[in-house]
Amino acid sequence: GSENGFSRLSNRDKLIGGLLIPGFDEGSCLSRYQSSLYRRTLTHRPSPYLLSKLRDYEALHRRCGPHTKLYDEAVEQLRSGSSVRLTECKYVVWMSYSGLGNKILTLASAFLYAVLTDRVLLVDPGKDMADLFCEPFPEKTWLLPNDFPLMDQFSNFNQKSPNCHGYMLKTNTLNESTEALPSYLYLHLVHDYDDHDKLFFCDQEQALLSRVPWLILKTDNYFVPSLFLIPSFEHELSNLFPQKDNVFHHLGQYLFHPSNHVWGLITRYYEAYLSSADEVIGIQVRVFESGSGPFEHIMDQILSCTLQEKILPDVDKEDFSSVPLERPRVKAVLMTSLSSGYYEKLRTLYWEYPTTTGEVIAVHQPSYEMYQQTEKKAHNRKAWAEMYLLSMSDVLVTSAWSTFGYVAQGLGGSKPWILYKAENMTTPDPACRRAMSMEPCFHAPPFYDCKAKKGIDTGVVVPHVRHCEDMSWGLKLV
Ligand code: GDP
Repeated sequence: GSENGFSRLSNRDKLIGGLLIPGFDEGSCLSRYQSSLYRRTLTHRPSPYLLSKLRDYEALHRRCGPHTKLYDEAVEQLRSGSSVRLTECKYVVWMSYSGLGNKILTLASAFLYAVLTDRVLLVDPGKDMADLFCEPFPEKTWLLPNDFPLMDQFSNFNQKSPNCHGYMLKTNTLNESTEALPSYLYLHLVHDYDDHDKLFFCDQEQALLSRVPWLILKTDNYFVPSLFLIPSFEHELSNLFPQKDNVFHHLGQYLFHPSNHVWGLITRYYEAYLSSADEVIGIQVRVFESGSGPFEHIMDQILSCTLQEKILPDVDKEDFSSVPLERPRVKAVLMTSLSSGYYEKLRTLYWEYPTTTGEVIAVHQPSYEMYQQTEKKAHNRKAWAEMYLLSMSDVLVTSAWSTFGYVAQGLGGSKPWILYKAENMTTPDPACRRAMSMEPCFHAPPFYDCKAKKGIDTGVVVPHVRHCEDMSWGLKLV
């Protein structure tokens, strides 16, 4: 039972190696101090320097967060318009945008950027951020207050907004003198961004941005790998993350605590279907074909990957014997997919035939929502619960290109087997490949050398930033 397990936990484990601090009200966010119960032992330890920077950030957030005197001053300056005195507190505002997996990855990226630039991170609550996540920082909320002056303009921000950083560079309207800098800039880091927007990743622009009190960020990408290529951040990043392949793992565990509502979905499901199994295999099926499926070539791919990599045992179609009398080894498969088709096929296969190893395979899938429904609260709660449940599995199989899968692998701290993206409705060969690291892939990185002012392959500049397994032009930390 959880309660006994909980009291057995050492404080260090409960606080995830010091990532978390004690003192939060436990009842209002049960997952915060219970999550470690559901994880294997801590294998990736955060660096002492990361821990000290998180404590510094918490102090900054306490001082500058919503409804503090300094926050009110900075907002006042924003209201009063153009010319800028440097405010004591600077902010990066994360805009709610794109699917839930994308949101989680971009929020972690924005937080790292805030830590690197001594900014306070504030979160546009959108439809359901408060419904899905607990507050990560002590005392002061991370949610942007409703009366924030630019809130009603968020939906209009685009690449051609007057305060868009890239647009101002393109039209030569960004004056470098401090008096003429605007009080806020809109950063367009969405996958369709252009060469001017991408100058965000250059040191020279970072120097300018550091003098602007408010940055409003819209992105659907995990842009952390490219932060590692900005020389002025290099030193700090290598101190924060001596092992470069666990950035999201640590930041994700620090930031994203499921709300009690979602924690209920997670823990009930886990106790009902997964906790008694000898091994839990997570299989995340995200299909980017048009039409809802299920597709034959995807089912073949799932089987071919899991059998070849010995993640699941083969069945013996000639043998109809029952399981031996002594307790058989049980593997629980946790599938997630918008469709129920793959789950039904796999479950039927292991019901109709015995395995060659004598193991028993139990196949489960929490939901089949048919299609993406970004605006619906109950739908997003299930999506978050499923990402989290996947992260609790012992072995993980994910789908190429999917941020949903990246979140699961990152939180769980495991290198998944990635099901390659199928082309022309055919099963790829090989069907899957083991990931190089647990880090998410940056799908739309810049390919630009800021110093030489020319295009380069940013995937070969340093050994720890490479092209992704599942997307040849993407970048990931290894
Ligand atoms: P990505 O599109 O795979 O990168 O992941 P996102 O999470 O950003 O967007 C996909 C959205 O579709 C999710 O947030 C869910 O709303 C929905 N979705 C996709 N796959 C699943 C699934 O397996 N289970 C559930 N419950 N929802 C899913």
